[in-house]
Amino acid sequence: MKLILGNGKTAQSIAYFLDKQNILFILLKDTRRLKNKDILRGIDEIFISPGIPQTQDIVIWAREQNIPLTSDIELFSRHAKAPIIGITGSNGKSTVTQLLGEMIANDGKKVAIGGNIGKPALDCLNDSLSDEVDYYVLELSSYQLDYTQNLELLTGVVLNITPDHLDRYSSFQHYIDSKLSLYKYCQYPVINLDDLLTPRIDDAKCFGVDMPKQVSNFGTVTCHDSCYILKGDDTLMNVNNIALIGKHNITNVLAALTLGDQIRLSINSMVESIKTFKGLEHRLEWVIKKKNIDYYNDSKATNAISTITAIKALVVKYKTISLILGGVEKNENYSELFILIDKYISSVILLGKSAKVFKNNIKVAKITNVNSMQAAIDAASNSNCEAVLLSPACASFDMFNDFEHRGDVFKDIKSDRSHVVLK
Ligand code: ADP
Repeated sequence: MKLILGNGKTAQSIAYFLDKQNILFILLKDTRRLKNKDILRGIDEIFISPGIPQTQDIVIWAREQNIPLTSDIELFSRHAKAPIIGITGSNGKSTVTQLLGEMIANDGKKVAIGGNIGKPALDCLNDSLSDEVDYYVLELSSYQLDYTQNLELLTGVVLNITPDHLDRYSSFQHYIDSKLSLYKYCQYPVINLDDLLTPRIDDAKCFGVDMPKQVSNFGTVTCHDSCYILKGDDTLMNVNNIALIGKHNITNVLAALTLGDQIRLSINSMVESIKTFKGLEHRLEWVIKKKNIDYYNDSKATNAISTITAIKALVVKYKTISLILGGVEKNENYSELFILIDKYISSVILLGKSAKVFKNNIKVAKITNVNSMQAAIDAASNSNCEAVLLSPACASFDMFNDFEHRGDVFKDIKSDRSHVVLK
């Protein structure tokens, strides 16, 4: 008998999949208050949702009794008939996953995208058209990798590693190891040369912002004030033709190109995809221009580094930026963000639980405290700026259901829509 643990989309996808295979299972939605190990009697495998921490009793009991704990990703890999490409990292996963998916589709192949990006991987197999898929592109979180022992990836990448989710790991090293475990499963690894925590692997295809040192690697060169994307010595495109904004997206583009090249997609078709790819909702998403102010929704920025990235991307374009910041802060060092805010941001609107801590650390920028998104937008819009940026550097669950809800509320207010329900 199998046991499924979890209450969300992943657990549902596992239940649906096992049911289709006529495999008997028990679904246990809330594992937190379990008092009795007997629940595991007769169970030979546990399919566990990534949200359940490894410190929960049921995980500890299962390990004591040598009952395998398996992620939905491992179950997916056992049954997928087409090659799988895995993408992990602290930031940029969804962007690279979606861009690579579009590159594969534009190259005339059938692709299914899933995993941490929103659609559980097994739902890609549950689809009626799953037999026709040429490639699966999966966004993988460290939590999913933690419950994975076997996985077959044709190619894959760890995009970058910066402190995140440190509430779930006993140390930063533990989180690093979790991310890097992806390479155990990759037949043809892809490496980001700019990420100092990623070790070099022989025969890997690499990318980085410098000039490529090998013909098969991807990089950039700046010449007469223009920056170009290169494969080896070949110039592929001017970075001004990338539809996404910000230097971080040059790295994301390089990652997608390198993965695409690993599976031999046509370079020309990949370049065309890059020119038209507008990015995903809630990631430095341009919303509207009103009264000469550009509004950006970067609600997905739930840690310091992603807000740092967003500020760096916008300061190139705007002299005065109003930043809507805050929520539930992460257990990480925000000092670099505060320095950047004091250097570049004219006005900061603080929202949510973190307001007090953040206020004490921002020294130069003008601060306004608010307690609703409407008030935040009003304050930001009245601050005489060229751009308003919602990039909270925090989780959203003090005021919103999730980052999508937070971004939707921001966008609805700005676009005078009103269909999103406030929590
Ligand atoms: P993930 O799926 O890893 O959370 P996303 O593509 O959804 O990544 O982007 C999340 C946030 O991280 C965005 O708000 C963006 O500003 C920032 N970001 C995206 N790519 C990078 C990168 N390569 N390096 C640093 N920050 C990035």
